[in-house]
Amino acid sequence: FSGSGNALMWFRKGLRIHDNPALECASRGVTGGGFLYPVFVIDPHYMEPDPRASSPGSSRAGLNRIRFLLESLKDLDLSLRKLGSRLLVMKGEPGEVLINCLKQWKVEKLCFEYDTDPYYQQLDMRVKDYASAARIEVFSPVSHTLFNPADIIQKNGGRPPVSYQSFLKLAGEPSWASSPLMTIFPSLPSVGDVGSSQIVEVPTLEELGYVDIEMELPPFRGGESEGLKRLREAISNEKWVATFEKPKGDPSAFLRPATTTLSPYLKFGCVSSRYFYQCIQDVYTRNKKHTSPPVSLLGQLLWRDFFYTVAFGTPNFDQMRGNKICKQIPWNDNDELLTAWREAKTGYPWIDAIMTQLHKWGWMHHLARHCVACFLTRGDLFVHWEKGRDVFERLLIDSDWAINSGNWMWLSCSSFFYQYNRIYSPISFGKKYDPNGNYIRHFLPILKDMPKEYIYEPWTAPLSVQTKAKCIIGKDYPKPMVSHDSASKDCKQKLAAAYELNKKLNGVVSEEDLKVLQ
Ligand code: FAD
Repeated sequence: FSGSGNALMWFRKGLRIHDNPALECASRGVTGGGFLYPVFVIDPHYMEPDPRASSPGSSRAGLNRIRFLLESLKDLDLSLRKLGSRLLVMKGEPGEVLINCLKQWKVEKLCFEYDTDPYYQQLDMRVKDYASAARIEVFSPVSHTLFNPADIIQKNGGRPPVSYQSFLKLAGEPSWASSPLMTIFPSLPSVGDVGSSQIVEVPTLEELGYVDIEMELPPFRGGESEGLKRLREAISNEKWVATFEKPKGDPSAFLRPATTTLSPYLKFGCVSSRYFYQCIQDVYTRNKKHTSPPVSLLGQLLWRDFFYTVAFGTPNFDQMRGNKICKQIPWNDNDELLTAWREAKTGYPWIDAIMTQLHKWGWMHHLARHCVACFLTRGDLFVHWEKGRDVFERLLIDSDWAINSGNWMWLSCSSFFYQYNRIYSPISFGKKYDPNGNYIRHFLPILKDMPKEYIYEPWTAPLSVQTKAKCIIGKDYPKPMVSHDSASKDCKQKLAAAYELNKKLNGVVSEEDLKVLQ
């Protein structure tokens, strides 16, 4: 950069001050009386209430994620103010608003974090085209992930690695592994005149049009300050970090979840995954005996990068059709089954409790996500994984384009994992961790007085027991919508036939071919 004139820092994800190379560059680039404009654009499509949506929120995001984002913006604004700056919040179609700002404020340098999500790829192309025509310098560093997905794909001859182990081999150590990432800004350049631009304070939910919403607050407050506090807490338990083993955690633990619960903070970049990585490495340096990928805590961050890389290099990654790594399976589009699952009315308390946690908290343990995704798709209901993915995409706070579709393909045995005979039981899996059903009692209070021996299968309780528990099955709580034994057998047969067809046709399966299996 030439070092003169005004710079604009465009925040999207990366809602943090620490380890923020785009912010660093924008701040360094301002000299000679120039100004730094830190901007966040609120896209009404993403943020404003949709009265037709099946639960509170916009058409694209549930209320929990919108609240988390607003809290994160508030926290970012506070941090910027402490450094002599502030967040300039604007509303409108982001590309249009940004291009207007670049024009009005005579910006010479535009800095924003690189994003592989197709929504941002498109938006960024538009903004970059304008910038290049207007001779504005653009700096867009990779700092949302540990690695640059494009580098890994290039190392692999232009194809994304489709197994975690091959990803690990290609990835190696990140180049910044032992560089200091926590920039300390003594202050930031001041914000210049904003002209006629409509700048607003970070809005409240009410200001966005959300009124009279009574929801149990999820245990996640958005923002970098809270995220770093949680990261430090998690990391300070060195023994726990060193012995972390993913599949061994208890998915029903909700008072003290078995994992870090940092995913919402990583999603919005309130916590840098690279800083998180370094913190874990520091613990490993002091504790030579520690677990390894794929099960270790470091291994979890690498899963995140793995899915980003495959998603970035796979056309149509978020759908079955036209997606080369996805098995073609004749899923059904049964709205009734989908709705019962989404609304926590399947009649299987373990499944319904997890879906209730999704609505109330916008977060569930990884294995809990496994159970409900398996149940909806290849385990019981045979509903298309894209439908379940859409529900998660809207309701999870940590909702992530690459990770979500990747995991749905995994759980539906459409890609990555193919052992379709291994099905999670909606009865015995949860019971193993939580025989008393405390998790169910908490999230489904209608079942709170059901005796322990019936809590996972309340339809088997004699009527006298149901009456005493004040919960009549079929009236106060639904009967199971399918019999797991026969539904899962049926699903296995359908998958076996679909796998056979994919093999026979070498993966090139048309819709007509699939119809034969329906
Ligand atoms: P920890 O176990 O503490 O792991 C630390 C971090 O590693 C996580 O915050 C996350 O960023 C990353 N990570 C952990 N597991 C995975 C994984 N399997 N794949 C990729 N990254 C991982 N995670 C999302 O962040 N967004 C999603 O939209 C999402 N959708 C999912 C959908 C399904 C069907 C399934 C089965 C899993 C999904 N996950 C998703 C992955 C995983 O369940 C969550 O990342 C994890 O439960 C978050 O809790 P945590 O932060 O306590 O995780």
